[in-house]
Amino acid sequence: MQNLWNETEAAACTDDLELRVYSSRLLGCNPALVLHGGGNTSVKIVEKNLLGEDEEILYIKGSGWDLATIKPEGFAPVRLRPIRCLSKLKQLSDPQMVNGLATQLTRSAAPAPSVETILHAVLPFRYVDHTHADAVVTICNTPGGQQRIEELYGDLVVIVPYVMPGFDLAREATRIFTEQATPNTIGMILMNHGVFSFADTAQESYERMIRLVDIAETYLRKHDAWELDKHTAQDLRFSNRCEIAKLRQAVSAKTGKAMIFHVTGLQVGLAFARRADVRQLACGPATPDHVIRTKALPLIGRDTEQYEQEYRRYFESHEPEALERKTMLDPAPRVILDPDLGLCCAGSSVAEVGIVADIYEHTLDCILRAERLGGWQPLPSSALFAVEYWDLEQAKLKKGGKPSMFSGEIVLITGAASGIGKACVDSYLQRGAAVVGLDIDVRVTEVSASPAYLGLCCDITDEAKITAVLDQAVLRFGGIDMLVLNAGIFPASKTVAELSSELWRQVMAVNLDANLSLLRETYPLLKAAPSKGRVVIIGSKNVPAPGPGAAAYSASKAALTQLMRVTALEWGKDSIRINALHPNAVFDTGIWTEEILQARAAHYGLTVQEYKTNNLLGIEVSSHHIAELAAELCGPLFACTTAAQVSVDGGNDRVI
Ligand code: ZN
Repeated sequence: MQNLWNETEAAACTDDLELRVYSSRLLGCNPALVLHGGGNTSVKIVEKNLLGEDEEILYIKGSGWDLATIKPEGFAPVRLRPIRCLSKLKQLSDPQMVNGLATQLTRSAAPAPSVETILHAVLPFRYVDHTHADAVVTICNTPGGQQRIEELYGDLVVIVPYVMPGFDLAREATRIFTEQATPNTIGMILMNHGVFSFADTAQESYERMIRLVDIAETYLRKHDAWELDKHTAQDLRFSNRCEIAKLRQAVSAKTGKAMIFHVTGLQVGLAFARRADVRQLACGPATPDHVIRTKALPLIGRDTEQYEQEYRRYFESHEPEALERKTMLDPAPRVILDPDLGLCCAGSSVAEVGIVADIYEHTLDCILRAERLGGWQPLPSSALFAVEYWDLEQAKLKKGGKPSMFSGEIVLITGAASGIGKACVDSYLQRGAAVVGLDIDVRVTEVSASPAYLGLCCDITDEAKITAVLDQAVLRFGGIDMLVLNAGIFPASKTVAELSSELWRQVMAVNLDANLSLLRETYPLLKAAPSKGRVVIIGSKNVPAPGPGAAAYSASKAALTQLMRVTALEWGKDSIRINALHPNAVFDTGIWTEEILQARAAHYGLTVQEYKTNNLLGIEVSSHHIAELAAELCGPLFACTTAAQVSVDGGNDRVI
């Protein structure tokens, strides 16, 4: 394991807390040590309190902060002396402990101190570092793991047999440390959990961590249990994207809400899911820290009913009463290992799915390496149950805040590179949806940097391309729940007498025909939408009030509106809603060039500015107005509305 300590960077730190931030980030940027908010670090600093007295303060990582990006304010300052006193209690419930820690903060706005605070407080070193290093937990999770660790580290570490994180672990670790530590002790191994290192300087504590992990990595290498062959080519097997959408629907049904479902396509995941012994191997996480995100058990195959039974049985055999007492969070898997689709991950948002995927990728490394070493033997289900149903974690999940309107849902938006489509991307992202943006314009790939956005260049008049992008969207997010048919072209003004058949067909191909293909191809996906499918078509004021010189455009939008009405009649039985917006005079869009704008204004005998606000309310209608209403049309406000046509035009006397 590489030591990343850099003298120049460290010298730029002006105090102990800055050094703490610096070396915490060194640990945090290495996914083989900690992943997504895992691990924690601390430093003990003497400060003057309000009375001018010296007071020892423990700065410990606050919850919600990630070591990779932590800042000074991410450390919670707690008074050291009272925390050390707490460690002497015989008993303390976890909620009491959390409250006890919070009441010793010296900054009221600080984040909640880590549940491992008491352990950090009692270790008699200024700097304490804690990670869940892959190599160490791999060795722990093998038959005879503790013996291997003992032989490997000798008196460099004290070893704490597995105890669930919280007060009991702090007390037990304190006892063992007090009884067994020698002048040679540089760290502590928590069996099946992780590693602590400590020292009086940031550098030494960090370097001890690297040294301890390096010992484990070298051991794995020596036993030919380090390098994994991940390059045996494996291909995904699915004949129809609806298979994936249906699996997502079944997983979502188990949680009672829509979930993002991601087919990772990882070679190692495909190979693992195809192993005959996958069921025996995929039987627990590398460290309890991962349980909350990934759940203790993955789904093997696609039978979510059977998964629920197995999940219950897995826990019931150990904790029948506890399971009765506690409400089951949800019997839905977060990790799915399917022989055709490989490793898939589910979660309530794209960010959550990314975390699950990262964690499970590391879990696979641990499992495969442990296998080489003699077998994967994770914690027993009783221990995992205790973590999955831990009061503190349940409270955190419940506190998680109100979910966004479209959390776990996916929308496909056409014409997303500019104007109304681009504004729709923002409006749906803001409401928590994953967004697939299509456009013939390559800029569509850059509309948003959010991981919840997938921009795909696509000519929607090409049916083969539509099929390809739908496959991509479903592999990435699991389905399509909402569709915004926005792409359209608005050619230069032509009277009927001068309108060529070629131009007519060109307009119809984009504004009408492509939308038929999109509706037809997404129908099976919309039917499988966990919260029912919804479609918004962007029509035009020209539908109720056409203007001269725009025959092809007006006719295409009128036909599209009629297509919407028939679709509403046919899809009502599937609970799919479809509605239309009729915007007018939205000028911040791709179809309004300066030339067209001037021509239309002149046609009505107006200046461009007069033309822009030429409506009853005298306001300029923007893409944002349309996008917000398009999003709301898919929301609960319009739950009872289908086949409606809503004008967004500032009021138009011809329409009224
Ligand atoms: Zn830990």
